[in-house]
Amino acid sequence: MVIVGGGFGGVFTAKHLRSRVGGDVHIELISRNNFFVFQPLLPEVAGGNIHPADAVSPLRLLLPGVSVRVAEVRKIDVASKTVHVTADRDREITVVPYDQLVVALGQVVDLSRTPGLADRALVMKDVLDAFQIRNQVLGCLEEADTTADPRRKRRLLTFVVVGGGFTGVETLGEMQELIRKSLRHYPRIRTDEVRTVLIQHGPRILPELSEHLSDYAATVLRRRGIEIMLNTGVDKVTPTSVETAGGLAIDAETIVAAIGNAPSPLMRSLPVPLDHGRIVVDRCLRVRGLDDVWALGDNAHIPLGDPNDAKTTYAPPLAQFAFREAKVLADNIAAHLDGRPMTAFEYRSLGTMAALGGRMGVADILGVRITGFLAWAAWRLFYLSLLPGLSTRVRVAVDWVLDLFVSRSIVEIRPSHPGSGHIRVVSGDIVIEPGVEPAGVYIVVSGSFELTVPAPAADDAASQSRRLGPGDRFGLSLDAQPPAAPERVRACEDSTAYFIDKGDLKRLAMVAALVERQRRKLASTQAEGA
Ligand SMILES: Cc1cc2nc3c(=O)[nH]c(=O)nc-3n(C[C@H](O)[C@H](O)[C@H](O)COP(=O)(O)OP(=O)(O)OC[C@H]3O[C@@H](n4cnc5c(N)ncnc54)[C@H](O)[C@@H]3O)c2cc1C
Repeated sequence: MVIVGGGFGGVFTAKHLRSRVGGDVHIELISRNNFFVFQPLLPEVAGGNIHPADAVSPLRLLLPGVSVRVAEVRKIDVASKTVHVTADRDREITVVPYDQLVVALGQVVDLSRTPGLADRALVMKDVLDAFQIRNQVLGCLEEADTTADPRRKRRLLTFVVVGGGFTGVETLGEMQELIRKSLRHYPRIRTDEVRTVLIQHGPRILPELSEHLSDYAATVLRRRGIEIMLNTGVDKVTPTSVETAGGLAIDAETIVAAIGNAPSPLMRSLPVPLDHGRIVVDRCLRVRGLDDVWALGDNAHIPLGDPNDAKTTYAPPLAQFAFREAKVLADNIAAHLDGRPMTAFEYRSLGTMAALGGRMGVADILGVRITGFLAWAAWRLFYLSLLPGLSTRVRVAVDWVLDLFVSRSIVEIRPSHPGSGHIRVVSGDIVIEPGVEPAGVYIVVSGSFELTVPAPAADDAASQSRRLGPGDRFGLSLDAQPPAAPERVRACEDSTAYFIDKGDLKRLAMVAALVERQRRKLASTQAEGA
């Protein structure tokens, strides 16, 4: 039996299956990481409240008796009953045969509908995403504490989250808490200089909750200084700002996209019925038309009643559903193999909860509405009980207790020098100072820069200037040599450049030399042939 995907659906199916079928049945779980991510805790990782390693559990420890293969699923061939995978360090395709296949690959983030969003925004899907958001927040505080440019400071201290669902609200709540708790270490930043903005397309945040609870959540967040923009779409994201459909531009260094959940592109290549990119399964979680393929979790379209009835609702993409689906699916595979009747998936959500940061929350448990500290405590207890593995539970509980008594860490972990990538600057920013050797090559992507070679005797009239536009470059030469004369480069307008760092430049030069040698060899072979 092969299970693809090591998230809620995959892991709990493997766990239940192992206890349902005999030891002679081989169960293999294939996933791209060797750990299981407990996604509901990610906002707390972004807030620096939980250590990133504590929000994940190693698959091999979680799943005794299950063979774990860490690999990327490239293709599923239902005709030959095989899964084609590549391991990280080995690009070779390995073909894994199956008798029964469970598809639990979750969803991906697709931000392509909003121009510029994918280039600028941080997302919230994986543990590294959450850790990156935490580092970004702390990095902005560090730079805002030292910059002398008021416009840059304002931009560094503006944090925008797009999407007012559970992920967006919980993430911004935790980011705001991290900022609030850290500010006393940054004496040059005043509380009123920090701006946190939540942009929500619909008329209220947390639309999955009752109006009363979502209004309560909005009031709590607003009281903590978070601006909530309702009925607001994002038109585009520029190198420096978020532009709303209403024509408002918010200058922000940090943009988090808590929107854009989309089906994995792999689904489209499967010869199975899809609904909005999700695999259509029957009530027993078996893929329609196939006897040996099953699906659950975020990548499955699961009817909660008769699929022929137009009023039937479908399982939402939530961990608590995937968790229950896994048990039914494992039972049904065992029943199918034994020739017993299978059971239909039925689940009524026990409730919905959201943590708002600052020890406040909202919860609707079995129709009972709870708000404030009690809801926050219920949220924590519920998710602590769902966490797989005793050691993970203990570590998370210790993190939570520590947060009550000691201050959050403000260690910003980042590479010692910036790697290659886009840099965004605002009009007037100095990118290169005379006398300071550039760290690499800059290629102008958009906007314009002015390159000035100052005269040796500070004689402004004798200094030479030229304007650089898209496609032009400045900084080191392509063979990583510093410019012949000292240069100053200043952005003439809000602009973007692609920065290639010195190390990458050397590697690129090596590749270029190889390509050139190959080209010459080919040309001489062709000449000989002629
Ligand atoms: C920030 C955040 C907060 C959330 N909070 C809550 C909450 O409070 N309550 C709640 O009920 N739900 C919450 N959810 C939703 C919940 O986490 C999902 O519904 C749940 O994880 C779905 O489980 P899954 O197994 O379908 O997918 P996932 O848990 O996403 O697992 C998919 C797995 O497949 C692997 N994978 C994907 N593609 C490949 C490939 N090509 N090759 C190999 N492996 C692959 C992934 O690495 C991953 O291990 C939250 C989600 C997020 C992102």
